[in-house]
Amino acid sequence: MSPEPALPNQRFLLKDIALLWTGEHDGRLLTNCSIVVDSGIIQWVGAHDRLPTSLRALPFTTVDMSACLVTPGLVNTHHHMYQSLTKCIARDSSLFEWLNTLFPIWNFLTADMVYKSARFAIAELLLSGCTLTSDLLYLFPNDVKLDETIRAAAELGIRFHPCRGAVSVGESDGGLPPDTLVEDETAILRDMRRLIDRYHDERDGSMLRLALAPCSPFSVSERLMKKCARLARSYNNVMLHTHFAENSSDVEYMSTNVQKGLVEYLEHCGWNERDCWFAHCVKIRDDDDDGRYTSSLKYFAQQGLGVSHCPTSNCRLGSGAAPLAKMMKMGVPVSLGVDGSASNDSGNLLAEARMALMVARVRDEKADAVSTSDVLRMATSGGAAVLGRADVGYIKAGMCADVAGWRLDAPCFAGSFHSPEAVLSALILGNGGDLKANYVMVNGMEVVRGGALARGVDMGTITREHHEAAMKLATIASDQLARAVP
Ligand SMILES: [Zn+2]
Repeated sequence: MSPEPALPNQRFLLKDIALLWTGEHDGRLLTNCSIVVDSGIIQWVGAHDRLPTSLRALPFTTVDMSACLVTPGLVNTHHHMYQSLTKCIARDSSLFEWLNTLFPIWNFLTADMVYKSARFAIAELLLSGCTLTSDLLYLFPNDVKLDETIRAAAELGIRFHPCRGAVSVGESDGGLPPDTLVEDETAILRDMRRLIDRYHDERDGSMLRLALAPCSPFSVSERLMKKCARLARSYNNVMLHTHFAENSSDVEYMSTNVQKGLVEYLEHCGWNERDCWFAHCVKIRDDDDDGRYTSSLKYFAQQGLGVSHCPTSNCRLGSGAAPLAKMMKMGVPVSLGVDGSASNDSGNLLAEARMALMVARVRDEKADAVSTSDVLRMATSGGAAVLGRADVGYIKAGMCADVAGWRLDAPCFAGSFHSPEAVLSALILGNGGDLKANYVMVNGMEVVRGGALARGVDMGTITREHHEAAMKLATIASDQLARAVP
């Protein structure tokens, strides 16, 4: 049985919002309006003088938003929070070289390090306006458990979709990870079941949903992929996530070692339904049909398979640029992910939206390949849809109260007050990455207030403790690795 979610019983009036982007597809921008939130749900949105008498009489906590642009909270669909401990290593390496450099270090991760890095990564996301995030933890050395990331998310108040990842094919069996990091498949499935039974809440408004995430075709068996699909589908709303077609070496590994094309692999494993989402998909194409199977891009659109587009990581590792405009045109559900902080090397979703726009325009050599509204939708309702959520991603009555407020006197907005559309665009085009959310609400609870975390722990303490954990990992890993050299 999953625990009852803690529902806030507080009412909020987010009053006199200077500019509101609701995230709805008509691109509606409202000025001088208010939002009423009751018990975690948006009850009413509109011009303040039209607030119904029945609501007007109720007691509220009033929040003055007259200096803010308000948007739906952002949604991050791909991350590896533990990687915040190992930023800026293997700086000029491609994916496989990068992994081969980092695996020996990650071998010394502990539960405490995973907890402190998750707390840091979540704080970073909240302060960039993110209200729902996924995280894929796929290494479980020493005493590491997924429970550590779940504890961090609950403390800071973010809506969370943790993925129980796994690696099960090590070097000696032709996989990429060292054998020391590989887990037994029966134990993996047992732990997945334990986590779902303990934490998963399938209901609307859920603050926590589990997903199952065997790491990649070059680190798990097809047998495990199939068993995970069966296990996930024996529950409601447990989704499936993995890395897919990240770069040329990844696709080549599949063709040589797994001996399957992209579509053939997905069909064979049963990962071909709307409950699956895939990180990267840089190499899915519309011209790789092989006579037996349709093209991979068409297949994603036809089956409604979700993509987590991670452009910064793809640039950093020289993986390539995903065909974003084509994906959108063909109807592939697309969202954004910051990816792990060892290949980003930060965790700012708004910066990721800007990068997505820029890379798509460079790739296609078209200034209108992808618009600011497109990437804002990917960062909000697009992310929610990919994670199977119809209850977040928009600001309208009946949705969960996940909201971000941005101060309009921040430098990135200066010079953009020609029109409401220009101001909204400045959130993407004008923001070089320094803009912080001023106010963030998740499930009707304040998690960021005045640009600072609002749940009793400050970013300074979180950063210091994260730094200490990172230094401890660096010291242990270098001592042990030096000892291992003959
Ligand atoms: Zn990843």
